[in-house]
Amino acid sequence: AKKSGPGTICFFEADDDKSARDRRALQQDLERAIEADELFLVYQPFLDIRKGRITGFEALLRWQHPIRGLIPPSVFIPIAEETGLIHQLGEWVIRRACATLSRWPDQIRIAVNFSAVQFHNVSILQTIVQALADANVSPHRLEIEITESMLISKYGSAPSILNALLDLGVTVALDDFGTGFSSLTYLRKLPFSRIKIDQSFIRDMLTQPDCAAIVKSVIALAQDLQIGVVAEGVETADQLDYLRQTSCDEVQGYLIGRPMSAREISGLLDARPQS
Ligand code: C2E
Ligand code: CA
Ligand code: CA
Ligand code: CA
Repeated sequence: AKKSGPGTICFFEADDDKSARDRRALQQDLERAIEADELFLVYQPFLDIRKGRITGFEALLRWQHPIRGLIPPSVFIPIAEETGLIHQLGEWVIRRACATLSRWPDQIRIAVNFSAVQFHNVSILQTIVQALADANVSPHRLEIEITESMLISKYGSAPSILNALLDLGVTVALDDFGTGFSSLTYLRKLPFSRIKIDQSFIRDMLTQPDCAAIVKSVIALAQDLQIGVVAEGVETADQLDYLRQTSCDEVQGYLIGRPMSAREISGLLDARPQS
């Protein structure tokens, strides 16, 4: 704000109105986006450091808007969550990911992101069972990524749905580890297969000793708990070297691969069969 006074207030109100209108327009567009075939998934690889092999991919949602162009999930996921559209979107993501899995080698997994709101709808379980069956894909190849905020009591049914998924053989990863208030508490609540160290720690670990200490401790913790650990947001060879020395299991980030289309990845997997 440059100057205070009625004019300034008016300016901000107009701005808010505009963004509210924008949001409503976007929301209406999003309702049509699935049928209009404007949504697609890109896949970002996980590299197993010891084996030097790609073990799977995280599915990330994209929206190609006919006028506005590519809209990032940080913009449309919150809208989808507020309007309940996330249920439809989430089911679409699951079905698409399973269909993709059916075309890729058996040793490759796909991880999909889940919103807390999706746990309000018990039918998500049936959707997952059906999608796996339709694609004839083994449940252990599908992973669900959740953040600890989903396990907070407001979403009372989350643990029971997650336990049902685990019974099916679907695996669950704890995403953005270290960014919440009580990450350690949640590790006790569910049999997670994997934790993903948030990219903010990886970004700063080579310049900030306290960050390095946290990364090392989380990796040691995962090993003691006998669960997998993934470092997110690896961008440099020095970061990868450091993570190799600390015996991190898997890495993900622009250094290893950007999110890519299923088509690009199918080409890669065909060219270098993963045996
Ligand atoms: P996330 O699950 O933590 O995903 C990681 C984000 O970091 C992705 O952004 C990815 O493109 C980006 N990233 C990967 N490697 C690097 C790197 O080396 N450096 C940097 N700076 N960034 C990297 P993206 O695709 O924009 O997704 C943002 C968030 O949107 C995701 O965070 C996830 O919370 C959410 N999201 C994406 N797809 C879905 C979905 O299908 N459903 C739900 N509920 N949420 C989704
Ligand atoms: Ca994720
Ligand atoms: Ca993450
Ligand atoms: Ca995140």
